[in-house]
Amino acid sequence: MQSALSLSPSEIEQLISDRRDLHAHPELGYNEQRTAAMVAERLAAHGYEVTRQVGRTGIVGLIEGTKPAPEAESVATAGAARGLLYRADMDALPVREENTVAYRSQNDGVMHACGHDAHVAIALAVARRMAEARETFRGPLKFAFQPAEEGGNGAVAMIEDGVLNAPDVTAAIGLHVWNNFPAGTVGVYAGPMMAAVDEFALVIEGRGGHGAMPQQTVDAIVVAAQVVTALQTIVSRNVSPLDAAVVTVGKITGGSAFNVIAGAVEMRGTVRTFSTETHARIPEMFERVVRGVCDSMGASYALDYKRQTPPLVNNAEVCELVADCAAEVVGRDRVIRDESVRTMGGEDMSYFLERVPGCYFFLGTRNEARGLVHPHHSPRFDIDESAMASGVEIMTRVIKRYLA
Ligand SMILES: [Zn+2]
Ligand SMILES: [Zn+2]
Repeated sequence: MQSALSLSPSEIEQLISDRRDLHAHPELGYNEQRTAAMVAERLAAHGYEVTRQVGRTGIVGLIEGTKPAPEAESVATAGAARGLLYRADMDALPVREENTVAYRSQNDGVMHACGHDAHVAIALAVARRMAEARETFRGPLKFAFQPAEEGGNGAVAMIEDGVLNAPDVTAAIGLHVWNNFPAGTVGVYAGPMMAAVDEFALVIEGRGGHGAMPQQTVDAIVVAAQVVTALQTIVSRNVSPLDAAVVTVGKITGGSAFNVIAGAVEMRGTVRTFSTETHARIPEMFERVVRGVCDSMGASYALDYKRQTPPLVNNAEVCELVADCAAEVVGRDRVIRDESVRTMGGEDMSYFLERVPGCYFFLGTRNEARGLVHPHHSPRFDIDESAMASGVEIMTRVIKRYLA
């Protein structure tokens, strides 16, 4: 369906060279100095009003469409004017790249292993097109180039610095390149699409002692073993089988010698949930299990349970708009709308979508034939760059239709 693409050869060349330049110069969250400077310079050159340091290293580019309002509406619906936010994240990961491509990371130990380099390149291409087509839309269009998506909650930092206001936006859109889907496909899911991410650190405190005299001790390892097992019953016995949730203990440490009963055990892990109800209830369920097991065995505990990101919930109406535009570009049969779009992975785009309706969607970038199959965050992650043009085309259409 290449015919639906209206990108010129020079636009495609720029898109790929931007992505490769960013890929070669990855920067960690809140450290996106070079990336932010490049983005700001480019936006300013296209005539955007640029605000720097929105959410520390974030950049906002604002442009107003000049399409006149239909006369009948101009006064009556002035208060209901639309504004749109397009969000692209900029940060890389602390991963040492194992690819041997010419554009591989030049910043040792840091890598664009999630594809945010492509997000920036696509957004810049869209920004350029919209600047050249101001008469095709009306109202404010804001590009939010966000720092620190990977665990730094850069979205929150930008929201706190007012990215959604003055002028106000009424919807938000964004995309993630997605190696779980083949290039040429797009995944759009209305409703809860990505999981809420919580993080916990738990210390079980017993009383250490001689390995042969348990009666004088409270064995923190035995308590911890019970806690790990009991925590699994949250998902199997407390959450509806029709609702998805995961409790993972990812790290556990305790004890010092073969003949010593451990006085303390430390664990860390993550909890993933989809529905807002389960998300709201889970910290209490979690602590009830920990407290119950510890009480029954005479141990105490210290629990640090933290919210990372809320569930990412897409708005049905905006999803229909995106799915329609995607169908025009890749073909209706290549727009994936089923449960396979959902993932227990998390995304801080959810913070924007908590405040305004919107759609975050997946742009397929997997290519089996070319070996571009490695998962996100892998040291061998790379994408089929030819899919990026579809991302530009879809986003351009979504913007023009939302701000028609
Ligand atoms: Zn990631
Ligand atoms: Zn990502």
